[in-house]
Amino acid sequence: MFFQIPGYPDLQFGSLYCIGRNYAKHAAEMNSDVPDNPVVFLKPRSSIILTGENIVIPELTNDVHHEVELVVLIGQKARNVTPDEAGSAIKAFGVGLDMTARDLQAEAKKAGLPWSLAKGFETFAPLGTLYPYTKDLDLQNLSIEVQVNAEVRQKGQTSDMIFSVNQIISYISKYFTLYPGDLIYTGTPEGVSAVKKGDQITATLGEDISTLQVHVV
Ligand code: MG
Repeated sequence: MFFQIPGYPDLQFGSLYCIGRNYAKHAAEMNSDVPDNPVVFLKPRSSIILTGENIVIPELTNDVHHEVELVVLIGQKARNVTPDEAGSAIKAFGVGLDMTARDLQAEAKKAGLPWSLAKGFETFAPLGTLYPYTKDLDLQNLSIEVQVNAEVRQKGQTSDMIFSVNQIISYISKYFTLYPGDLIYTGTPEGVSAVKKGDQITATLGEDISTLQVHVV
């Protein structure tokens, strides 16, 4: 178990917030409606792994999917902030994977239950390299891609997000206080698909602003 954030010796990993259905075409491929407000769920900190590490497929699922996402690292406490104020809370950003046991998620959805068990397994939140954020950077104009065994599976643009990063931070901060070290996974574009043991996954954001390589075991 580790807590220190690479490149940020003054920060430790905190809470992991995730947004569901934030790209219209992904909502459609899940047969879900586009939401009126961001769909928020959390993962345990024990789900984080870093580039070069392994995603471990648990025995409790037979259908694990990759969801490639823009991830932001919070660097300043934020509570009840407006979208305009939200940028001040961002310390860095990068690419990540919201790994999902799709079979368990489908069961949970059917029963009206939370998604935590489908989303929170150890190693289910791989995080790529982090890039320092400055306000002149446009987080809503980045390409995002994931390849499995060198085959492109998802290729999207953060301009297609339904809720922008600033809107997401503002929304979450109405319910929770964001603290330095918290991460937000901001949703996935269409093209999610299953991975299996032996697969090599490579994810990139903005060509090579952030990269992530993980192996599935
Ligand atoms: Mg996701």
